[in-house]
Amino acid sequence: DAHGFRQQYTIQEQLGKGHFATVYLCVEKSSGMRYAVKKFEKRSGPSERSKVDGLQQEIAVLMGVSHPNMLCLKDTFDEKDGVYLVLELAPEGELFNWIVMKQKLTEVETRKIFVQLFQGVKYLHERNIVHRDIKPENILLTDKDLHIKLADFGLAKIIGEESFTTTLYTRAVDVWSLGVVLYICLCGFPPFSDELYSPENPYTLSQQIKLGRFDYPSPYWDSVGDPALDLIDRMLTVDVEQRITIDECLEHPWTTQRELKPSDSTEGLTGAMNGLDFSKRKVQRERTLLSSINDVKVSRVIDVQPDMPPLKVFEKNADKPPQPNQGVIDVPGAKGGAQKKE
Ligand code: ATP
Repeated sequence: DAHGFRQQYTIQEQLGKGHFATVYLCVEKSSGMRYAVKKFEKRSGPSERSKVDGLQQEIAVLMGVSHPNMLCLKDTFDEKDGVYLVLELAPEGELFNWIVMKQKLTEVETRKIFVQLFQGVKYLHERNIVHRDIKPENILLTDKDLHIKLADFGLAKIIGEESFTTTLYTRAVDVWSLGVVLYICLCGFPPFSDELYSPENPYTLSQQIKLGRFDYPSPYWDSVGDPALDLIDRMLTVDVEQRITIDECLEHPWTTQRELKPSDSTEGLTGAMNGLDFSKRKVQRERTLLSSINDVKVSRVIDVQPDMPPLKVFEKNADKPPQPNQGVIDVPGAKGGAQKKE
């Protein structure tokens, strides 16, 4: 078949692997241009059904999406051995691998990335699309100048038909995930973690998330400016009706600030590394960075949402969708509950 994938493209090395597909570098024979190809293996059986449904959804969403911060779909092939999606290449790979390599992310760099993420997600939300799987592995870098593209629309959903309340809840999921990623970028460890479990903090990971319990421990957050903390508080607000929207994220002072004061410009991960507190937090930070490669911990933290209609996470964990504000302890108010610790 002259129109087959292998007639038109040469497959090269593997770039990544997810739950559903393997991604390879490929070269278009006619142009010499490089792309990424996401290959979904074809195997029959009822268990494969949801995968195929997800794939249809991913293709449908990708075809309708055209934005500088969204990965663009070039072509699709339905072949005997699998379905191939030819995607724009993000040559610098995942955001978090880049952080691990560079060992630091300043507030200025973080803002550069988040302006793009906010614009991309705003574009989606305006079109009634929610991504639902924003995590460091799905934020890809196209160059060393921190230009990013959001990838992996396998869980994305078009929410046109549903009620206002449902769409509000569904969109809020993306803002929460972005809040977790923002927190991680600025300090190098996640806001919620099973490793924070202690006599003083007797809450499991999912309890911490449902109650919105997190803080900004010293020394890692000392050099981060208050606007960043305020934005994170508003994004990690348990009550979805109070949570900041993506439009408001774009208008927030942290996002719109032209010049950050020198004192606002954190040394990010380097700052954290030079800190004196080499306790749990440091171990946790190192594991976080490692696990970002192995796709374990960061994803788990980001997958769990405090309050939303049931999604795959809850099916997977056989966990009931949590109810907000049911804890016995203080629950954050409209502005979020975290306090900067001195
Ligand atoms: P998940 O398990 O998160 O649902 P998935 O099977 O849907 O994953 P993707 O997340 O789309 O697959 O891709 C897996 C990995 O492949 C990404 O995390 C990334 O490292 C790499 N990758 C995907 N698309 C590209 C691209 N266009 N350019 C470079 N690398 C890519």
